[in-house]
Amino acid sequence: MTVRHRDSDSTRAERTLKPNALRILVVGAGVAGISIARGLLRDGHDVSVFERRPDMRPGGGAVTIWSNGSTVLDQLGVDMEGAGQLLSTVRIATSTGRRLVNIDVSTIMDRLGGAVRMVPRRVLLERLLDGFPVDRIRCNSRVVGAVSTRDGVRIEFEDGSSVEGDLVIGADGLHSKIRGIAGAPPAKPTGWCSWQGLITLPDIAEKDVAVQIIGPRGNLGLWPAGGRDLQWWFDLPWSPGFVRPEHPIDMLRSNFAGWSDLVDDVLATLTDDDLAPSPFPHFRHPIPSTPRMRAVTLLGDAAHAMPPILAQGTNQALLDTMVLCKALSDSQKEASAGTADLYRALRRYEKTRRRRLSAVSWVTSRQMSQSESVLKPAAMISDSFGTWAMTTFMRWLSHRRISAEVNRALSSQLVQSR
Ligand SMILES: Cc1cc2nc3c(=O)[nH]c(=O)nc-3n(C[C@H](O)[C@H](O)[C@H](O)COP(=O)(O)OP(=O)(O)OC[C@H]3O[C@@H](n4cnc5c(N)ncnc54)[C@H](O)[C@@H]3O)c2cc1C
Repeated sequence: MTVRHRDSDSTRAERTLKPNALRILVVGAGVAGISIARGLLRDGHDVSVFERRPDMRPGGGAVTIWSNGSTVLDQLGVDMEGAGQLLSTVRIATSTGRRLVNIDVSTIMDRLGGAVRMVPRRVLLERLLDGFPVDRIRCNSRVVGAVSTRDGVRIEFEDGSSVEGDLVIGADGLHSKIRGIAGAPPAKPTGWCSWQGLITLPDIAEKDVAVQIIGPRGNLGLWPAGGRDLQWWFDLPWSPGFVRPEHPIDMLRSNFAGWSDLVDDVLATLTDDDLAPSPFPHFRHPIPSTPRMRAVTLLGDAAHAMPPILAQGTNQALLDTMVLCKALSDSQKEASAGTADLYRALRRYEKTRRRRLSAVSWVTSRQMSQSESVLKPAAMISDSFGTWAMTTFMRWLSHRRISAEVNRALSSQLVQSR
């Protein structure tokens, strides 16, 4: 069951600093950076966010938030009412129209207790920034270095300035600078890429049904994202020497036309201009071990970029946020807590996340293009088994004990503040 953690004033992310507040430097103001900053401000820390872009105008298509990610957003006091599109079903089929499995998303929601929705990234960031103290974000601040100090860390910016804190959280995305500084290996291309974006169609017949189709040369997804918006992606092989065709829409049509009526509508609507930002090569990070610097940790895509197959990027960033906030608040309970307690908490967060992340990253890197003959046995999976398997996997990924402890702590704070 979802516990609501919002009252008249709890959408304000900033609370009074607590006596032993940590000075926390967050690099990157994407979903991961703003989520963790929101959680740490809620917990009474002194948080600053540094973003290389000149402003907070967000780009991108739509992202998926599964039940466990929705629970974290609720814990952060983020109001998602009416945002994007609630999903009821993920329908998986082959390119010849053979039904493989229908995942009953409503059942996942009932069992795990949080909404499953597709949300334009722009809308999610707007909701995360609602009530967030924007003076805590410094744009035009590209981080180029970080060094350990006697009692913490200093980050350095491209303009020569620097800032000191007790710890730095690298939430700086796929090709993270902080990841390199922490000594973690870089992301590797998987050999696939997505041509993707968000389009507005005149009408979407089944607004709550996400469609995924697997064929011999690639796969595609058409996931409604609210109103008449549809997130589309076409996945094809890719290698570093890839030469972009002059008219990529022709290439997509030749690979995917005829897969379904909706696919044909989308292909007829898309133009080469819609494809201009694509392709997006898929990368996968080896899940990092202990960072080289004690006062550094990684979060979101900086820690674990993975292919978009299970639509887990944003969701996993939210789970990181919950686990890191909890580890830090547990470590700071005693007024006498020192840097050794802080560093232990960072390592506990990384260890807690590592096994789940390794599993989800492994699953997302499985080959998704298959011939009809290979897919034939998969068509024998019943919908109820498919739904059960997905629910079980999502439940295992959810850190339910930690989530319950966070819910209890937030509920008791809410009672005390009344
Ligand atoms: C423009 C954009 C569009 C996207 N579109 C989609 C989409 O359509 N569908 C989807 O599933 N996922 C998309 N994603 C990825 C998705 O946002 C992430 O998988 C997920 O939300 C986790 O986000 P993150 O905050 O870890 O990383 P990101 O969202 O990549 O955010 C990282 C932030 O760090 C900043 N940054 C990077 N380096 C530095 C530096 N040295 N100093 C300071 N700041 C730095 C970046 O500018 C960025 O704002 C997109 C990401 C971006 C940046």
